[in-house]
Amino acid sequence: MADHKSKFDKRPEFNYSWVILIVVLGLVLFSMLPTTPSGAKIKETKDLRLFIEQGDVQNIEIVRNKNLARIYIKPDRIKEQRHFSIQKSKTDKYPFLFNKAKDKFYTYDYSSSIQFNNDITSFQQNLPENQKILPNVIDDNSFNFTDLLGWLPFIAMILITIFIFKRMSGGGMGGAGGGIFNVGKSKANIIEKGDISTTFNDVAGLDEAKQEIEEIVDFLKNPGKYTDLGGKIPKGALLVGPPGTGKTLLAKAVAGEANVPFFSLSGSDFVEMFVGVGAARVRDLFTQAKEKAPCIIFIDEIDAIGRARGKNPMQGSNDERENTLNQLLTEMDGFGTNKGVIVLAATNRADILDNALLRPGRFDRQIQIDLPQLKGRIAIFKVHTKSIKIDNSIDLEFLAKQTPGFSGADIANLCNEAALLAARNDNKVIVKQDFLNAIDRVVGGLENRTKIYPPKTRETIAVHEAGHALVSWFLEHAHQFVKVTIVPRGRAEGYAQYLPEENRLSTTEHIKHEMCVTLGGRAAEEIAIGAISSGAWDDLRKVTASAYRMVKSLGMSSKLPNVNYDELESNSYIGKPYSEHTAQIIDEEVGHIIAELYEKAKEIIHIHREKLDIIAAQLLEKEVLFREDMEAICGKRPYDDHNLNIA
Ligand code: ADP
Repeated sequence: MADHKSKFDKRPEFNYSWVILIVVLGLVLFSMLPTTPSGAKIKETKDLRLFIEQGDVQNIEIVRNKNLARIYIKPDRIKEQRHFSIQKSKTDKYPFLFNKAKDKFYTYDYSSSIQFNNDITSFQQNLPENQKILPNVIDDNSFNFTDLLGWLPFIAMILITIFIFKRMSGGGMGGAGGGIFNVGKSKANIIEKGDISTTFNDVAGLDEAKQEIEEIVDFLKNPGKYTDLGGKIPKGALLVGPPGTGKTLLAKAVAGEANVPFFSLSGSDFVEMFVGVGAARVRDLFTQAKEKAPCIIFIDEIDAIGRARGKNPMQGSNDERENTLNQLLTEMDGFGTNKGVIVLAATNRADILDNALLRPGRFDRQIQIDLPQLKGRIAIFKVHTKSIKIDNSIDLEFLAKQTPGFSGADIANLCNEAALLAARNDNKVIVKQDFLNAIDRVVGGLENRTKIYPPKTRETIAVHEAGHALVSWFLEHAHQFVKVTIVPRGRAEGYAQYLPEENRLSTTEHIKHEMCVTLGGRAAEEIAIGAISSGAWDDLRKVTASAYRMVKSLGMSSKLPNVNYDELESNSYIGKPYSEHTAQIIDEEVGHIIAELYEKAKEIIHIHREKLDIIAAQLLEKEVLFREDMEAICGKRPYDDHNLNIA
């Protein structure tokens, strides 16, 4: 998705180091301001009395509003030993910061001004009249820097707290959702209208889904047409399907077609460690959306918040998620039908969603988006090969046939991979072989040519893969063979590739034949080498899973026909829905089925023993065998192959 920022991102970045700098500068400036001078303190009246009686005092200043008096000493008396405390006061040690206090004086805190006046009068009783001092009474409103110093620890604490919050919430304070103070903001990405270039043309296939959703586009374009008739338009639609099938793309195309803003976010964006945040984000999202209505909100992976509430009592409380979901439900109820905010949500598990979400008036429309069929894949290839240079002779239908089970995203990735491979080979255009290599790479992982096996192991691998190929060739319902290789890819030592037939209902025969092919590798090892290897590990895992599925889920065994013993997810805490006795029968049936199919695989290999040896030998020599090679060895496959166009 284009990286458009939300409106919150557009606010100027707020940098906290500036605040710290400004505060420090402020403190320095304050210190330079003329401040109230402060002198040494006289604590006892007897000292005051001594100074006055000895005639040291030049002047007394009574600061009425501060309940203190300043006693100024005559300059010629300061040198006396008894005035040592103001001779070298702090003010001299820090001439820059505190040099405002030039005068030498004492301060005296009095409790009662009347008492203080009386004291002074009485202390001066014996002094000659011309030496008597009449105190000045003043009000002092000047700023005292030392007062501010008292606040310093407090200011420092605030700064440290802000700093810690900033670090805790990670990243800058500016971005939407970033920072502790923005935690309740929605994290939606907003694409403004006019900025969305995606249209239905970019969404290949999905014709039914497009048709369903067209109504929403029409409503967003001409709401009046519907509301005039009194009709109500759905508030939301749920797009259900596996990942990569184009759900986001479709939602964006709706916004593009209707030319309205598009808010997109994922269900997990609501979730945070703080209680109540999810609900706050839902509220914020809808507030923003209403401001921009008509618009579309797209919530990906809604199951993160929309799971059925309180299904599993053992799990304890899921209050936070439930609160978020409740808020979502309330908001969806809250905005009137005609407000023009449409919520599209995507999930691949509609069955686990809370029923309240699916009831009419909320996501009452479910649009199923499945993995693309052949026709869909051709269309998707068309879209994604538009922007890359491909050889004109490449048949997109052929590519689509080679990629059953691929999602739209897989195909997009495949086209990109093919382009990269072509570039690596210095090709001017992307040729068919690049696509085939890319398919191998996407399906099987990276080719691992550096992995060198000892000759004996290589032989075992060749026999094993030959076994798969041979059994599939002679079983009617096995998938169609494409190629077999012993070049290791990813974690596999080699593999045989088939084309599954799409949209078929599997009969017992189909499943059994598939399992037989899977067992063909080990059967071949046993017959041709006389020893079995660990190479069949993955095969056995698949076969066992299929056998259990046949017996437990599909009712396809003779002793337990037509029953389904699947454990229901919602009841999983109850345990298995069958008795121990039945469990034993299930295990026995699985054992029988696998044993029977293994015998069948061996039987086929016995019949075509010499062909197995030829296939294995050719594999050791050429590493890859295609359909034509198999035809040359085994003859045409006896079963109809639907005229496959395979290289
Ligand atoms: P989802 O939301 O279903 O997981 P996306 O919509 O994010 O999947 O699809 C991922 C990418 O796959 C898209 O950006 C697009 O390139 C490609 N893609 C998926 N489906 C289609 C489609 N039907 N047509 C064209 N491209 C598709």
